[in-house]
Order: sequence, then C-alpha cells, then structure tokens
Amino acid sequence: MKSLVKLQKDWFKEGHTKSYEFRKEQLIKLRKMLDTFEEPILKALKFDLNKSEYEAYTAEIAFLKMEIKDHLKNLKSWMAPRDVKTPLTHTGSKNYIVKEPYGTVLVIAPWNYPVQLALAPVIGAIASGNTVIIKPSELTPTVSWVIKRMVEQYFPSHLIAVAEGGKEVTQELLEQPLDYVFFTGSVPVGREVMKKAGEQLIPVTLELGGKSPAIVHKDASIDLAAKRIVWGKFLNAGQTCIAPDYLYVHHEIKADLVKAIQKYIYEFYGEHSLLNEDYVKIVNRKHFDRISSFLDEGQILIGGRVDSKKLRIEPTLIDQVTWTDKVMSEEIFGPVLPVLTYDQLDEVIEQVGSQPKPLALYYFGENEEDQQKVTESLSFGGGCINDTLYHILNPHLPFGGVGSSGIGSYHGKASFATFTHEKGITKQTTKFDQNFRYPGSQLGLKVIKKVLG
Ligand code: NAD
Repeated sequence: MKSLVKLQKDWFKEGHTKSYEFRKEQLIKLRKMLDTFEEPILKALKFDLNKSEYEAYTAEIAFLKMEIKDHLKNLKSWMAPRDVKTPLTHTGSKNYIVKEPYGTVLVIAPWNYPVQLALAPVIGAIASGNTVIIKPSELTPTVSWVIKRMVEQYFPSHLIAVAEGGKEVTQELLEQPLDYVFFTGSVPVGREVMKKAGEQLIPVTLELGGKSPAIVHKDASIDLAAKRIVWGKFLNAGQTCIAPDYLYVHHEIKADLVKAIQKYIYEFYGEHSLLNEDYVKIVNRKHFDRISSFLDEGQILIGGRVDSKKLRIEPTLIDQVTWTDKVMSEEIFGPVLPVLTYDQLDEVIEQVGSQPKPLALYYFGENEEDQQKVTESLSFGGGCINDTLYHILNPHLPFGGVGSSGIGSYHGKASFATFTHEKGITKQTTKFDQNFRYPGSQLGLKVIKKVLG
C-alpha cells in the first residue's frame, strides 16, 4: 500500500493529469471498459447478489454511463478558471479561482451496488485530475475481482489501482499520506475512517446510511404512492442506502395503502417471491440473520417467509411496531418495511426531527403547503415528493447525507466540486500601488473604515 500510494503521488506530481484532453481520454476509456466488461459485470452481480440483468444494468452500468456522459459534456466548463469580482480595495488586480485536483484519492466502496458505488466516485475523481485507489467491498468478492481485472486492463496503476481485501487493507491505506478519502458505507465504519483520516488532516467525503422515512399523507394518490414505495423499497431486496426504511402513514388511509402495496408486491415479484429467479438475495448469512430477527417483532401484514438456504427474505410489511423495537432502532437495509401511523403531520415532523438526520426522506401528498412544510422543517440528505429514489438519478442534483447520514456530496457537477480544490488567486498590478494598507499611511485608516466599514 505504501509503495502504491507513493507511485501514484510521484506520478501525479509530474503533472500528467492536468489537461482537459487527458481527463477526457480517461473518461472515454472508462466508458469503453464498461462496454467491454458488461457481461462479466452482470455475471458477477448475479453470482454475488442474484441481481437480475435488468436491475444490474439499470442501477449499476447505466447509472455510470449517465455520469460519464454528463462529465464529458460539461468537463471543459467545470475546469475553466472562474473570474470573481474585484472589490475597491483590490483595484487594478484580477481575481480568479483555479481548479486544482487534490492528488491521490482513496475510494472505499460497500457491497450493495458494488460496481456503481466503486466507480461513480472514480468518474468524478479522474475528471477532476486525481489519481485513484479503489478499495471494493470484500463481501462481493466476484465483483471485486472483476473490478480489479477490468481496471488493470484499461488503466496503469499509477493512475487507477484496485486494492482488494477487507478492513485491514483500508486501515493500511489510511496510514498513507493520501490527499482525499471518499468513503461509502455504514455510520460506525465512517466514524472510524474519519477519525483515522483526521490524524493526517486528510479531507473526507462520507456517504453513509440511516433510517429514511416514507411519509404518506391522507391526500396522497394512494395507488401511485404504493407502486413507487414498493419499487424503491424492494429494489435490490431493500439493500439500498436510500430505500424507504419505514412507512409513516396517516391512519385514515393505512388499510388502503397496505392493500395497494400488496398488489404491487405481487405484480412486481409474484405471490411467491422466494421462488422468483430474479429476486435479489441478502448478501451474507450475518445480514440474513440480522434482518430475519426483525420478523419476530410486531405483526406481519404481508410476506414474512424466508429461505435460509438461498438467503432470501420476502418483501415484508410489519405492523404494530414502536420506536423502541429493534427494527426501529437501526437501519434495516433489507426487504422489511415497518408501518407506523399518525394523526397529525406535526407529530411526524416532531418524531422524525428527533431522530438522527436521515439520508433520504419521501413525502407523498398533494397539498403544496404540506409538501413545503415537511421538506423545509426537517433536515435530511435529499429526497422526493411523491416518489422514492428518483432524486439520485438526476445528475444535476447533488447526492449526499447530512449529520450522521454523511458529509459532502457528489454526482455530476457536485462530484467535480468534491474532488477539486478551489484555489483563490489575486493577480496584483505592478503599474501602481495603493498605499493605504501600509503602516504609517496618512489616509490608511480613513480609507479602510470607508471601504470596509
Ligand atoms: P461497511 O461500512 O461495513 O463497509 C464499507 C467499506 O468499508 C468496505 O469496503 C469495508 O471493507 C470497509 N471497512 C469495513 N470495516 C472497516 C473498518 N473497521 N475500517 C476500515 N474499513 C472498513 O458498509 P457495507 O456493509 O459495505 O454497506 C452498507 C452500509 O453502507 C449501509 O449503512 C448503507 O446505508 C451504506 N451505504 C451508503 C450509501 C450512500 O451513498 N450514502 C450507499 C450504499 C451504502
């Protein structure tokens, strides 16, 4: 790890990554790499997570291609130095911002979208002129292996390298003099990563998780809300950082909403989802046991069956749970959806507001004042009104958490900003000098008071 970081840092210092042409060429190579390795990627995702071709292509490969396309389209203008205003005190000078890459970036990835979450930050990091070391998740080893092979085929290790392995690899990398750390994963590990990076004052982005609510008010379009909630919750068997974690529904429409949710679960996955060839499995036994233990709480409204050999859990709705139950005290990260009810929207705002800030929040309801009230009075990473997950698919929206759900954001222009240091420059004139700033200047204090206040 030590020699790899040194190799990248030395090469970076030689200035190869500075030009627009170089960066553009790398983005094109990344796209080509995805095309060439499409089949191995899809096979690896099927093997490690039982992802169907549809889910794997749309949520991983297509997403990355969309990001590359957006970067290619805008990179030149994002890279350009930006002039800023010149205040009176600076008369005669030119003031501008230079966009500077950090250097060597470490990208630490989780297992749930193991291709997308390993490579989406790489697109931003490379476009911004950095070199990158990717640490894929060891819990999806086939995908990790494919990522290593394809990166090695397309890129020299002084530009992009893959360090496979478990937490010991990450820990060793974090000992090195990296220039930026981009971490996606759980809150406890994020805390450790930030602590370690803090020892060397390495800047970090933390893309974490948490409990993201889906609030369904009484004026919501019930059928559409159910359809979009089922899609967002059970995609990847609930193993999505921004999946609705729990449902908060107005008591008057609960019965109708649950009925509609059942209809869409059957429509999307069949009445026996455990037999559905395309239904995603839980990543490993530890997570399977953890999620299955939630089924002992409350009362099961829909689903509840498991296949412990194939590590599958049916799309499940649980009723009669309280905030003190285990299912409500940790991120579920699986296909289990607890249902809570409320009477007044203010109760919801009070309750959700007293929890750690979620990564996402979804509000379903037609009244615009209520939409505004919920989205403005609660703090959360990002979200949707009358939909789930869709905000992540717009490259013009920054994606990230707030508070315990994360620090910083990325996607599209936000990625470029994340991996770029903005260096402010004053280019002073030598044609004349303004004496008011120098000690002993007669008019100095008067001028400063007048101009600066
Ligand atoms: P994780 O935190 O267990 O692991 C993430 C990465 O950190 C892996 O590469 C792992 O090898 C490494 N790691 C694990 N323990 C470590 C340690 N002690 N020191 C250093 N590195 C360590 O997370 P996970 O289980 O892979 O992913 C699930 C979590 O990630 C969920 O909480 C989910 O919400 C979150 N997540 C967030 C986003 C987002 O974009 N905000 C996306 C996907 C997942």
